Amino acid sequence: MKSISLILLAAGDSRRFELPVKKQWLYQYDKPLWLFVLERMQKSYSFENIIVVANKDEITLMKQFSNVTFVQGGASRQESLRNALRVTYSDYVLVNDTARACVPLKLIDTLIQKAKPKSCIAPALTISDTCYYDGKPIDREKLLRIQTPQLSCSATLKELLESQEVFTDESSAFFAAGKEVLFIEGSREAKKLTYKDDLKLLPCLQAPINQSRSGFGIDIHSFEVGKPMVLAGVPIESPVGFKAHSDGDVAIHALIDALLGASSLGDIGELFPDSDPQYKDANSKELLQRVVTLVKNVGYTIEHCDLTILAEMPKVAPYKEQMRKSLAQLLGICSSKINIKATTSEKMGFVGRKEGVAVYATATLNYYRWDRI
Ligand code: MG
Repeated sequence: MKSISLILLAAGDSRRFELPVKKQWLYQYDKPLWLFVLERMQKSYSFENIIVVANKDEITLMKQFSNVTFVQGGASRQESLRNALRVTYSDYVLVNDTARACVPLKLIDTLIQKAKPKSCIAPALTISDTCYYDGKPIDREKLLRIQTPQLSCSATLKELLESQEVFTDESSAFFAAGKEVLFIEGSREAKKLTYKDDLKLLPCLQAPINQSRSGFGIDIHSFEVGKPMVLAGVPIESPVGFKAHSDGDVAIHALIDALLGASSLGDIGELFPDSDPQYKDANSKELLQRVVTLVKNVGYTIEHCDLTILAEMPKVAPYKEQMRKSLAQLLGICSSKINIKATTSEKMGFVGRKEGVAVYATATLNYYRWDRI
């Protein structure tokens, strides 16, 4: 049995994809795409080691789905691959891009059978369209479209990628160094998901299930004289503000934790540590927008949020409408999906003694329905 590691590249930022969710987080039934691709490929061979290259902010979340090895991605595909190769000790590596979601197992099987020391084996397709190069038609018989996954000799690939030269795939690195590149017949099913319209063209994709996830958040801040008060992004007329490392918007902080809870992304303190000077006097609206982007990137839509503000002072009722509008804008959803409730604590406890305010928030998220766009 050949010693082969599987490397799945899943650190891309989906720049050309035009949807709020990143490709690797499009849910397939109840799994994100990167996991769906990984499990499909695992069926083809007993790999010595499996490495997923991921975005730094998403590794914690990915670890909740799988116990394979996760490696932080780099600024380019090549740098990401280099990072993965540093933890690869097998004779060969099979490298695939998550965007090639539907690679047939037969193709992987053929690649593995052809494995050869110091070589790279790649799937290639011929072209049936007329092709022009530099304004002139060219002989299409001589053209090949190269796909992934590709199977490479690990030691040779490691050596080649240490060069400063930039390669778009492993085969071109081998070719540039005069090493052997073997082609096998590619597959139309191994098409790459690049633009949102490609979603209709990949044969193995499965629509996500209708699943709601809910999260809960709570935050408490005490008053501080002379500080401006902001609640849910709305300036409040008040002789006191909130004591905090940031602007102290206790409603937004509770909502951030509810969103992070529903998406299993941890909590506000992990994401924006108050020991970090860059968050001193941070604008909570900006923090919320970053969290909203993150939540959408990893495959969710925000369905509903409900906040309860527990305060003896200030009086919240006159600001409720403004708060809903402010949060709706920050979350990118209609204000009908946001509810704000206000209550007091009957003069009991720290809220009753007018020492501070507590806010409770819930958020409901759904899987992004990419099949309905
Ligand atoms: Mg707080």
